[in-house]
Amino acid sequence: MTSPDAVPGLDALRPRLPSPVQERADERFTRRGLRLLLKRDDLIHPELIGNKWRKLAPNLAAADGRTVLTFGGAYSNHLRATAAAGRLLGLPTVGVVRGHELAGRPLNPSLARCAADGMRLHFVDRAAYRRKSDPRVLAAVLRETGAEGAYVVPEGGSNTAAVRGCVALGEELRGRADVVAVACGTGGTLAGLAAGLGPGQRALGVPVLRGGFLSGEVRALQTAAFGGPRGDWWLDEWFHFGGYARTTPELDAFAQDFEARHGLPVERLYVAKLLYGLLALAEEGAFARGTTVAAVVTGAPFAA
Ligand SMILES: *Cc1c(COP(=O)(O)O)cnc(C)c1O
Repeated sequence: MTSPDAVPGLDALRPRLPSPVQERADERFTRRGLRLLLKRDDLIHPELIGNKWRKLAPNLAAADGRTVLTFGGAYSNHLRATAAAGRLLGLPTVGVVRGHELAGRPLNPSLARCAADGMRLHFVDRAAYRRKSDPRVLAAVLRETGAEGAYVVPEGGSNTAAVRGCVALGEELRGRADVVAVACGTGGTLAGLAAGLGPGQRALGVPVLRGGFLSGEVRALQTAAFGGPRGDWWLDEWFHFGGYARTTPELDAFAQDFEARHGLPVERLYVAKLLYGLLALAEEGAFARGTTVAAVVTGAPFAA
C-alpha cells in the first residue's frame, strides 16, 4: 500500500504525518461522559490540506510527471489542492470546472487561486459535466484542453489510489477512539478510513450533500480498492443543511462558537456540519457514556 509520506518527491513537501490528535475539553460532551478528540489532518500541509493530501499524494506519484487533469465545482477544495500540488511539484494541471456560464467572467477567489497556481481552467456546461466519466465526453475534454495523455483524477479525487491513501488515517487512530467521525462528499475518505481502523472501532460518515446515495458509493469504492467491504461504518444523513455549500444562521453561529471555544478554524463546507452533527448526536444520547469520539478535521477555511 502506498504510504503518502513515502511518495517520491512528495516528502520534500514535508507533510506532518501522522497528523496530531488533540483532546478538547468541551462540557457539552464531558457532561454526557464522552471524550472529544480532534484528528488534525488540517495540519498535514498548509496547501495540500487534510484529506486532500491523503487522496492526492498517491495520485501525484502515479501521474509520474504527466499533466494532471481533474474536475470540480467553482469552490472546490480538491481543485485548489490539485493546483497547489502542481505549483509545488512543477506539474502542469488542468481543472475542468462545472458551469459554462463562468467562462469569460472574473474568477471567484477560489478559482483565481487555482489560476494563480498555474492551473489551466476549462469550463463545461452542467450536462457535459454530469457525463464526465463517459469515455467520449472525457476524450473530448482531453482534446479540447490539449491534455491528451494526461493523468485523470475524478471529481473530488476519489479513485482507488485515493481510497487506499486514506487507510493510513484509520491506522493512525487505532486504539485511540471508539468512534471516528468524518464529513463526506464523495465518501472516499470514509471508505479508506474505515478500512484502516482496528477491531471494535467504528467510523461514522456525515454526508454534506443531500440524496441518500452515499452508502452505495462507499461500498463501491471499497470494492474497487479492497475487493469487498471493509471495516464497521455507518452514515448519518441528517446534517447536510439543505445540501452542498448550504448553511443556516444556526450552523454559522455554531461554527463561530466552536472556533471561539476551541481555537480551531472551522471549515464551513464540511467540518462545521460534522461537528454540529456530533454535538447533536451527543445531545440525543446516540453515544454511550464512556465513548471516545474522534472528529477528523479534514480541512481548513479558505482565506482568499
Ligand atoms: C473534500 C473534502 C471532504 C470530503 O471528502 P470525500 O473523500 O470526498 O468524502 C471533507 N472535508 C473537507 C474539508 C474536504 O475538503
